[in-house]
Amino acid sequence: MAASGKLSTSRLPPLPTIREIIKLFRLQAAKQLSQNFLLDLRLTDKIVRKAGNLTNAYVYEVGPGPGGITRSILNADVTELLVVEKDTRFIPGLQMLSDAAPGKLRIVHGDVLTFKVEKAFSESLKRPWEDDPPNVHIIGNLPFSVSTPLIIKWLENISCRDGPFVYGRTQMTLTFQKEVAERLAANTGSKQRSRLSVMAQYLCNVRHIFTIPGQAFVPKPEVDVGVVHFTPLVQPKIEQPFKLVEKVVQNVFQFRRKYCHRGLGMLFPEAQRLESTGRLLELADVDPTLRPSQLSISHFKSLCDVYRKMCDEDPQLFAYNFREELKRRKNKNEEKEEDDAENYRL
Ligand code: SAM
Repeated sequence: MAASGKLSTSRLPPLPTIREIIKLFRLQAAKQLSQNFLLDLRLTDKIVRKAGNLTNAYVYEVGPGPGGITRSILNADVTELLVVEKDTRFIPGLQMLSDAAPGKLRIVHGDVLTFKVEKAFSESLKRPWEDDPPNVHIIGNLPFSVSTPLIIKWLENISCRDGPFVYGRTQMTLTFQKEVAERLAANTGSKQRSRLSVMAQYLCNVRHIFTIPGQAFVPKPEVDVGVVHFTPLVQPKIEQPFKLVEKVVQNVFQFRRKYCHRGLGMLFPEAQRLESTGRLLELADVDPTLRPSQLSISHFKSLCDVYRKMCDEDPQLFAYNFREELKRRKNKNEEKEEDDAENYRL
């Protein structure tokens, strides 16, 4: 009997190792798909431990591959584990895990970018947003080319309380390229502070919990890997539509070495740029000579609130996009040059 006096009923029976599964099912990593596997079960156990208390939890694992993290989740006393894997080659190995944990593992052959997890678990798991997080967790080690767009999509879902967040403040434990993990968690003033830091931190409590050296993966990726934990905040730090916040933050960080007024200016058409940027900064009470990385979330909150008022006053303002204007001007110039050439020929 275990020291706690409680018998664990959920440990998996003895199984071939992940390395053996890879051999058995010929699961060579597809380099072009950035497949790097975690074979060390101490590391996969650590990721799962850091996800929080998973007893009786409903877990959604994205991109299980040969199933290392999957095993650790199944060993954590969860009620149900749903995995979504895009590459068919992994399905038989996952099926073997499912047979070893009857009734616990649901395997979906699909794409996490389109899978509707909001329909996957019982309605009864839903918790009011203000309550503690629901017993639903997302865990995954995906290719970096998928995890970054996915977290941006999920941040928007958090702001709308839809997608995986129909259950409430669903927690996520995900891996990223180490530099991206550092950016996600970077504080005001730090070198890594970026668009992602602000977008993630106005909506979530973000923790870069640990780093896994590249050599722990097979094959070894070019970079180290950061494990990041997200808990959506009860009250977002900026209460404006996601797209509006994204626009302000994106504009500020497009000139990351310049003073913040430079990027903010691009929110406005050229004819009113100087005056409107001055008004925005004054009403938001933000020093125009702060650099983008020096702006705190509360600076961004004031900027977004004032920009929102300006958009309400001028309904065309939000649609203004200086890049499109540049493109239009470039095309116009090209057309003019073509006309000039045509005239010259005539
Ligand atoms: N999680 C496993 C591990 O840690 O060993 C595999 C990691 S590997 C970096 C990423 C896995 O995600 C692969 O199995 C790959 O096929 C899968 N994957 C990639 N893109 C996906 C997508 N859009 N939807 C579902 N699975 C995806």
